[in-house]
Amino acid sequence: MAQPIQLTAPSQVSYLKPTGLFINNEFVPSISGQTLSTVNPYDESVIDSVASVGSKDIDLAVASARNAFKSEEWQSLAGYDRGFLLTRLADLCHRDKHILATIDAWDNGKPYEQALGEDLAEVISVFRYYGGWPDKIHGQTIPTSEAKLAYTRQEPIGVCGQIIPWNNPVMMAAWKLGPALACGNTVVIKAAKQTPLSIPYLASLIKEAVFPAGVVIVVNGLGATAGAAMASHLDVDKIAFTGSTNTGKAIMKAAASNLKTITLETGGKSPLLVFEDANLGQAVKWSRVGIMSNMGQICTSTSRIYVQEGIYETFVEKFKQYTIENSIVGNQFDPQVNHRPQVSAAQKSRILGYLETAKCEGAQLVLGDDQPSPDDKGYFVKPIIFKDSNRDMTPVREEVFGPFVVTQSFKDQKDAVEKAIDTEYGLGAALFTEIITCAHKVAASIQAGMVWVCTRRYNYSHFAIPFGGYKQSGIGRELGEYALSAYTQVKALHVNLGTWL
Ligand code: NAD
Ligand code: MG
Repeated sequence: MAQPIQLTAPSQVSYLKPTGLFINNEFVPSISGQTLSTVNPYDESVIDSVASVGSKDIDLAVASARNAFKSEEWQSLAGYDRGFLLTRLADLCHRDKHILATIDAWDNGKPYEQALGEDLAEVISVFRYYGGWPDKIHGQTIPTSEAKLAYTRQEPIGVCGQIIPWNNPVMMAAWKLGPALACGNTVVIKAAKQTPLSIPYLASLIKEAVFPAGVVIVVNGLGATAGAAMASHLDVDKIAFTGSTNTGKAIMKAAASNLKTITLETGGKSPLLVFEDANLGQAVKWSRVGIMSNMGQICTSTSRIYVQEGIYETFVEKFKQYTIENSIVGNQFDPQVNHRPQVSAAQKSRILGYLETAKCEGAQLVLGDDQPSPDDKGYFVKPIIFKDSNRDMTPVREEVFGPFVVTQSFKDQKDAVEKAIDTEYGLGAALFTEIITCAHKVAASIQAGMVWVCTRRYNYSHFAIPFGGYKQSGIGRELGEYALSAYTQVKALHVNLGTWL
């Protein structure tokens, strides 16, 4: 068994870090012998390293998840008891929320108070919510004729591979584990290389909650090796992924190996529309939250803002001032700070690359020409706002995934909708208007999986509301009752009632 080690975060919170991969409810060394190290994005210091698995480890992980899936212990567990495991896991996440939030803030660079107040709050709610479902997942009886009894059963899919991103690590794990386990599947889950630390800790809570061995396997590793091995594995029945659209496409191709069921939650370029009648103060406030929260590293970030022409200049000026006043740059554990580092050097240079591209392509920089010098420690990118962008500019078309927003004016409702949907993505859209007919009409015309109308913290999720995208923003839905159909398959039974026709 791999031995745990004591780690102490800059906030002085200490915890025992499990080492190795979590197979059959034990932490074991990897076969690959490879490791990957992870850093604190605030000062680039190495936090620690974790086992980085290869394809032989994935074979072992999948075999263990398969055995658990077939086991009498898991198959015969009543729905109510499966639900109890999930609610007990919710209780343990609640007990250790400060540790899990500390790990994600340290490893990802995200604000500690956000990791605690938003991510962990959601983790606990999601496990509790799905804990209520297992004894309520049932089929239908279908009237056909006197001679036949026809009914359906909602059955689990089998072994599910789950690949999660680095922006909300433990929260993304909960979104995927909750419905998969509620439906009676077994899971092999892999975190992103930038944030590998919270998932093994969650694994230790899964063991403490007394899930049967092998029901959840937790690994870390690189996308191109471990992730690709999961996506193409012939004994994995389903793959669920959150991350970039390009990686989603690669996973879809790999999943064709055995025609896996897939759920993809990919990129976004979500528009935010501000109509002339809107409450300007509220629109400005939530426009900042929509793109600067988590330093723009949220798939639902509203990264394209369209404002009706009569108020466009006023909006841009107020938005700039409000963003300056609310962007105190610093470390993730300081509650006075509200703008922390990006997750990695690669993300920082990618965002700064888009800054140069936008300037070259003729967009006008309103805020963001005072970026930290390349020699400064930490992956900081200060908020970037452009005005007078147009549809052909690269950062209007591509997902930047940083505190980077392009703005443009629109004439009328028709023009607003045309601009909003002029994208290959379709994750979300926000709109601010006080006119109810305009709100409903525009909301119905926008091709997106979620539309937020004048709502507070609009781009945040709620465990009971379906989450997912149109177009290249994904396939399928997570959260709510909808996620249950992503983790079950339907068996139709035809029973002869005694008439041999
Ligand atoms: P990514 O999509 O490559 O990585 C996400 C996850 O996929 C990680 O766990 C990674 O290990 C895994 N992965 C990578 N390649 C794989 C493959 N071939 N097969 C199987 N799994 C694989 O994202 P990234 O490179 O870390 O970030 C790049 C961009 O992705 C960002 O700038 C952003 O635009 C986007 N992104 C989106 C989200 C989101 O929530 N939608 C999250 C993270 C990143
Ligand atoms: Mg890290």
